[in-house]
Amino acid sequence: MVAIYCAVEGCWGSKESKHTFPNPSKNMELFNKWVEFCRNKRLLEMIPDKIFKNSRICRLHFEATDFLANNRLKRSACPKIRASECSIAKARGQFETEGGIGEPAFLEETPQVPETAEIEIPQP
Ligand SMILES: [Zn+2]
Repeated sequence: MVAIYCAVEGCWGSKESKHTFPNPSKNMELFNKWVEFCRNKRLLEMIPDKIFKNSRICRLHFEATDFLANNRLKRSACPKIRASECSIAKARGQFETEGGIGEPAFLEETPQVPETAEIEIPQP
């Protein structure tokens, strides 16, 4: 039997539970997003149907809010967390779901909107 590895580049051999790709014939757009996320050259050489049948992405790449209460992925879920960030995310325990939808855990910092400095121009 061939062990199924996570398709995400840099995440080979994870023991976490794996999730199948979205069905390319039903949601090609989302499917492509998953493939893109993987940055895995081998996937790019495979036909979508083969990826769908043979490839998996482990749960570490998803945010807690991507899961339903029964630990299944939402249909619209898209992987976001890169392999290098997995260990950090895991340490934070953000994958623990409590049956509800919690606050989204943002790993990436939201860009700061620079405060518009109001310059007072002295009136003559
Ligand atoms: Zn993985």
